Amino acid sequence: MKSNTVRPDRIERDIECIAACNDSTPDLGYSRPTFSNAWAAARDYVIEEALSVGAKSRIDAAGNVHIRPDGRTWDEPLWLSGSHLDSVPSGGKFDGVSGVVMPLELFRALPDPPLELVIFAEEEGTTFGMGLLGSRAWVGRVGCDDLARLTNRHGESYLEAGARYGVDAERLETDRIDASRYRGFLELHPEQGLRLWNENRAVAAVGTINGRRQYRIDVEGRGNHAGSTRMADRRDPLAAAASMIGRIESTGFDLSEECDYTVMTVGRINVEPNAVNVIASRVAFSVDFRSPEGELLEDGENRLRLLLEQISSDRGLRTNIVREDDQPPAPLDADMVRRLADAAESLGIRLPTVPSGALHDAAVVASCLPAAMLFVPSRDGISHHPDEFSRIGDIATAARITAAMIS
Ligand SMILES: [Zn+2]
Repeated sequence: MKSNTVRPDRIERDIECIAACNDSTPDLGYSRPTFSNAWAAARDYVIEEALSVGAKSRIDAAGNVHIRPDGRTWDEPLWLSGSHLDSVPSGGKFDGVSGVVMPLELFRALPDPPLELVIFAEEEGTTFGMGLLGSRAWVGRVGCDDLARLTNRHGESYLEAGARYGVDAERLETDRIDASRYRGFLELHPEQGLRLWNENRAVAAVGTINGRRQYRIDVEGRGNHAGSTRMADRRDPLAAAASMIGRIESTGFDLSEECDYTVMTVGRINVEPNAVNVIASRVAFSVDFRSPEGELLEDGENRLRLLLEQISSDRGLRTNIVREDDQPPAPLDADMVRRLADAAESLGIRLPTVPSGALHDAAVVASCLPAAMLFVPSRDGISHHPDEFSRIGDIATAARITAAMIS
């Protein structure tokens, strides 16, 4: 019998059962690479739990799981809610998982809820090198060519490795999102930042998901002997990269004054040959640039190109800039945010609106459906780490708000 109440103990059990599906050992955190045994076991757990209370499931051609209550057809327009079960290596228990177990609990608590649960494949991008792959393929923003080109560390493509789990290249072009079957998409996720935890909130709505551009910068100099090459005779790409990185950070500070939550990060650098007594010949580094405002992304890219070219030409070096990813900011649906706020108010909860610095599947789905997100606080802002923690009570509160919105 459905109890009509959300039960935190069942949510907690779901999180622990999914955490037990782990390619790693718990002291090293939780690892569920896409299409691994641990990932498949977690997915099977969610499907079995839903089916045990009266539901049916299908896997789309991109490898995403869809589950609807038995009393609902595949064609009628329902609310869509879900997130992902793949993790970064040595991640935590809550990223993605919270957003899957929340709608799962609603399948238990409500009789035939007007709700489809979705589990997106390869959200993190750490298995196949590109994030949000399952949702991007479902909405048609990546195609067969991309999925055939992207490979995991065993050298298998997304299509090859995914074939065992329902990925079907033949149907990929036709088995795509049909917007007429959905009223809107809601994703619950830990905030992965400090704000809500510090403000001691239970839950918040997301206003906009930051856009993201990522670049690969190659600086080419002249490798030479560190002892016999006079300072004036050097063309050192590592020293150049150091001043570039410093200027990139200052540009990030400047842009964040124009718009809060605008950030620029250099997180990866490779030096050739990376030897103590050799002036480097080549340096490659990454730039990750995010902002809630599209205009600022454009302006920031121009400033980035200008500073790289300037430092490069001052030092007589060659610098190549490649933009590798471009995800525009995704303002979430104002009407859905209002519905969520009303639903929260009916439970006596005031729902603040915050931006999302991290990207989520909701940003992709927002191009096809009205989309919204709920955030629960992350303890001390920590995420992508074994210490990641969100309160079960907050996830239950988000489930109650969602239940009130869809009922
Ligand atoms: Zn996530």
